[in-house]
Amino acid sequence: MTEQENRSCIVCGNEETQGIFIFDSFVCQRCEQEIVTTDASEDKYRFFIRQMRSIWLKQNA
Ligand SMILES: [Zn+2]
Repeated sequence: MTEQENRSCIVCGNEETQGIFIFDSFVCQRCEQEIVTTDASEDKYRFFIRQMRSIWLKQNA
């Protein structure tokens, strides 16, 4: 079984055990579901893209 370790979500900042990893960054299951179901024109989606960009910039630094 996988370890149940609390991770800090990069989108909402909450500590969760369930979620996905994008590079080394954690996105909780709830935010992942929101992103998947959110329309690209909505603010949440844009917020997520901004978060993603900061991760990518960090990865490339
Ligand atoms: Zn989250």
